Amino acid sequence: MTNNVTIPQNMLPNDGRFGSGPSRIRESQAKVLFESWRSPLGTSHRQDAVKNIVASIRKGLADLFQLPDGYEVVLGNGGASQFFDIACACLIERKAAFGVCGSFSDKFAKEAQAAPFLEEPVIFEKPYGEAAVPEFVDGVDAYCWPHSETSTGVMVPVQRIPGTEKNGALMIVDATSAAGALPVDISQTDAYFFSPQKAMGAEGGLWIAILSPAAIARAEAVEKSATLEGATRWIPSMLSLTKAIKNSRKNQTLNTPAIATLLLMDEQIKWILANGGLDWAVARCRQCTDIMYDWAEASDYATPFVPAGPARSTCVATINLADDVPASEVLAILRANGIVDCNGYRALGLNQMRFGMFPSVEPADVEALTHCIDYAVSEMKK
Ligand SMILES: *Cc1c(COP(=O)(O)O)cnc(C)c1O
Repeated sequence: MTNNVTIPQNMLPNDGRFGSGPSRIRESQAKVLFESWRSPLGTSHRQDAVKNIVASIRKGLADLFQLPDGYEVVLGNGGASQFFDIACACLIERKAAFGVCGSFSDKFAKEAQAAPFLEEPVIFEKPYGEAAVPEFVDGVDAYCWPHSETSTGVMVPVQRIPGTEKNGALMIVDATSAAGALPVDISQTDAYFFSPQKAMGAEGGLWIAILSPAAIARAEAVEKSATLEGATRWIPSMLSLTKAIKNSRKNQTLNTPAIATLLLMDEQIKWILANGGLDWAVARCRQCTDIMYDWAEASDYATPFVPAGPARSTCVATINLADDVPASEVLAILRANGIVDCNGYRALGLNQMRFGMFPSVEPADVEALTHCIDYAVSEMKK
């Protein structure tokens, strides 16, 4: 039976982790963790040993994204999903518009729909596999969309929405799998937020947001208005962006962070910068997805889910399989051979596989992966 297929050892990638998050953690990152076992691991996050790491992350991200004047790196606990709620609590003044084209962008929009103190958001939805950008709407004060819709392998342009030049609306971009893997001009955004367990190759649990002066001013105004007599908005401390900003400026977080996550992320940022920065990381991810898409296009049973063009992600590759090649069987064989987390997004329910092609992934491993898939499928057909 197919479950017994053994892929020849010399065909296997060096590292079989191709998940879209959590994604592979490099050995040298893990070594830093081990070397930190007495400090800063297991020590107070209110002391310099940890504060210096937060400072290093903030400085590293400022370099990586070449922050324009006045932009700040802010962080807190809870991951990107937490930032969905922070944006609803502190950045959207009354009404938002959303680009929705997959599970994550849909989740973000639903948070705004559920917030009782916000007006009904305007949703610009596209079928899964396409890119959705919100369009200008009178009265909308925040535009929200994903840079990389991780559930489908679609990337969405990051540009200020035409028509908003003078009205002060904020551009809030979910960059969770994009940050560190896709090119970006941060000046086109007001909040570019992400979690560390995707392209940053670290662990989950934190959110990081790069905020423009306009976003910081908005949070201050919205949070102030929530304290006024008769205000209906409740901003719990954990959702307070101004509290997060204040703490971040002191290289702190509002409550206790996972120090291991901070260490892993810091190490990854330094590694990317040492290799040439964002341009290098972007090119490496594109090299990996090119290998995947070229292979699929040449294959007689695999096809890229997203057609070639600007929407096809260069950091998360989604590949459809022919009906007579069940992805579940291919995935089981791969997993039994140490190649893991290549499943499509469960909610889509399509016969497909999905691969995180973040900076930590070696192009040679992707090449090997394609050979392993071919081997698995040829054995299945026997
Ligand atoms: C993974 C992901 C999230 C959720 O991140 P968490 O850290 O699990 O909250 C949100 N948006 C996108 C685009 C993602 O890829």
